[in-house]
Amino acid sequence: MAAPIRIGLVGVGKIARDQHLPVLAASPDYALVAVASPHGGLDGVPSYATLEAMLAAHGDLDAVALCQPPQARFAAALAGIAAGRHVFLEKPPGATLAEVGLLVAAARDRGVSLFASWHSRYAPGVEPARRWLSGRRIRSVAIAWLEDVRHWHPGQDWIWDAGGMGVFDPGINALSIATHILPPFFLTGATLSVPANRQAPIAADLHFADAAGTPIRARFDWRQTGPQTWDIRVETDDGPLVLSRGGAALSIAGRDRPLPPEAEYRGLYDRFAALVRSGASDVDLNPLIHAADAFMRGERRTVEAFTD
Ligand code: NAP
Repeated sequence: MAAPIRIGLVGVGKIARDQHLPVLAASPDYALVAVASPHGGLDGVPSYATLEAMLAAHGDLDAVALCQPPQARFAAALAGIAAGRHVFLEKPPGATLAEVGLLVAAARDRGVSLFASWHSRYAPGVEPARRWLSGRRIRSVAIAWLEDVRHWHPGQDWIWDAGGMGVFDPGINALSIATHILPPFFLTGATLSVPANRQAPIAADLHFADAAGTPIRARFDWRQTGPQTWDIRVETDDGPLVLSRGGAALSIAGRDRPLPPEAEYRGLYDRFAALVRSGASDVDLNPLIHAADAFMRGERRTVEAFTD
């Protein structure tokens, strides 16, 4: 068996603690060597305030996983690539499209692997949905990503800053699934609802179409209290396909399909290990392109100020 990939993690926040660290601890493909985070470390693991300090102290690191907010990702990714490390990017892969393009070129020139992870694509219903839809005639698509920002993002100010993307932070997960299971589509119009005291939208109503004119509508809303919704409904000539719970449940023509348990981050780290060992990269910008298009093409509506 190949030697474990010696990895350092940057940005010890919610997703690092909820998913990355447990998955790395359970995987024979990885050895967690160190972490870097401005205000926090991990008991029992060498911890540094910056990526640069971590790289300086651990010359034998093979890879870094970057889990900080997207506004801080580019500088860290470029430093990791320049130091010859393979780089795993949390979603979204950057705060702009052009910066991710620069990373792709830098990784290619340096001969390291770059992985733009889209965790929702690894939800258990997504591949079966993609296979079933392939070749079928799609009549319309309705996406609803409705959640309570106070519950899921307490105290996270960066999501409201420029580059934090607001409700697109979860909404881009829906876009990552839609771009994987549907034919190519493009934005035809959007309304972004932005709180009077914030830079990023709390809700978005998006209209897309594919080349055949199929209507695709997506509603993202962070003001949802009560039941939370992460659903994609695709109407086809052979009945509806419904991916719900973010891709963890699938029904086709009214019948639930049995699925394996959720293992999104194990899937991501298996994929990253395969990329590192084969010297390949995997960077799909399509979800970020649609989010950027919404900011470029959408109408902006000012709504009630948001306070935690
Ligand atoms: P978070 O809880 O705010 O954690 C981010 C961490 O990044 C913070 O704890 C902070 O560390 C660190 N950080 C901030 N600025 C940094 C910098 N300049 N350099 C290095 N580290 C820095 O956010 P999160 O929810 O984990 O989200 C982080 C990323 O993961 C986002 O892109 C998000 O879209 C993605 N993600 C989140 C979830 C989720 O469920 N939360 C799910 C999937 C993906 P200190 O505490 O040390 O200051």
